Amino acid sequence: MPPPVNTALAALPVYQPGRPIEEVARELGRCPDEILKLASNENPLGPSPRALRALQEALPRVNLYPDGNAFYLKQRLAAHLEVQPANLLLGNGSNELIELVGHAYMGPGVEVVVSEFCFAVYPLVTQLFGARLVTVPAKRYGHDLDAMWAAITPRTRVVFVANPNNPTGTTVPAGALERFADAVPPHVLLVVDEAYVEFLDSPPNLLARLREGAQSNLLLLRTFSKIYGLAGLRLGYGIGVPELIALLEKARQPFNVNALAQAAALAALDDAEHVRRTRENNAQGLRFFEAAFRRIGLEFIPSAANFILVRVGEGQRVFEAMQRQGVIVRPMGGYGLGEWVRITIGTPEQNERCLAALQNALAVR
Ligand code: PMP
Repeated sequence: MPPPVNTALAALPVYQPGRPIEEVARELGRCPDEILKLASNENPLGPSPRALRALQEALPRVNLYPDGNAFYLKQRLAAHLEVQPANLLLGNGSNELIELVGHAYMGPGVEVVVSEFCFAVYPLVTQLFGARLVTVPAKRYGHDLDAMWAAITPRTRVVFVANPNNPTGTTVPAGALERFADAVPPHVLLVVDEAYVEFLDSPPNLLARLREGAQSNLLLLRTFSKIYGLAGLRLGYGIGVPELIALLEKARQPFNVNALAQAAALAALDDAEHVRRTRENNAQGLRFFEAAFRRIGLEFIPSAANFILVRVGEGQRVFEAMQRQGVIVRPMGGYGLGEWVRITIGTPEQNERCLAALQNALAVR
């Protein structure tokens, strides 16, 4: 037996990621190329070709440590967002940034407010740092911002709002989110997780108040994993006022963002066409699934992101039956949504295959 670990860690559940293609292929005795993964909200169009070229060029220099301050990437990203490099914090995926928030703000005696059906990493990090999770019941599967505001106490240090939310795909109205941001008291850090914000037609403009340095208790989180198609490289970023960013920087490991991720992200930011195609494919795929679910008579939650939650009855059974057909989706039991599965939007062909697998799974009882 290893020596006893910290109590918070001992009681921590293990995060269940989407099942990797290779693992499922091994299990089914099939070739990885035959397996379709629509389980982790990845970009079905792949990475930008420009990012791929940049990666090739960067490869011979991987004997060197990356630039720990990611000078060029921060410059480029700052220009893209019309903020200053000092407003930016880079992470090994935005998951790492959630952990940095834990280092900076969570501990025993602290409360962290989240919504029911929130992204699984918020509760995990809260528990890891020994803080208390306050879960506010969802309203129509989305955030109830009034109730979340009412749940804030003098012990609250962090509130998480994901917009759009994973796994439900719901959004909070832009005006409501801005009013909420105004109302969150200064002793509370408001983390607005915008991992899927690029899929929105009219995103809320919280960036404006950071440009003006007007809100020091607001941190926006974004990622290159979704619309930019670079999930395997692990790169996320936070945007906040320079004072907040400087504090969070203290908890960051010096070389947390690798050199390949930096090179690929720089190139991906120049590929507006890839982003546009991704959005278009996604909008079309969402319409496809919504129409199909209406036709079959399956309840779904209208989504603003690159995935959709659909009520299939026995979620775990349907997930397994689809997996046997080589299609990996995400069962939602861990989120308290055992009757649902979450499907990432794929290419038109992938969506067709996924729907056929789902219909097969539903027919076999
Ligand atoms: N936030 C949300 C809401 C997410 O859905 C995800 C990815 N599943 C992340 C953050 C983390 O993404 P990454 O670490 O790849 O940037």
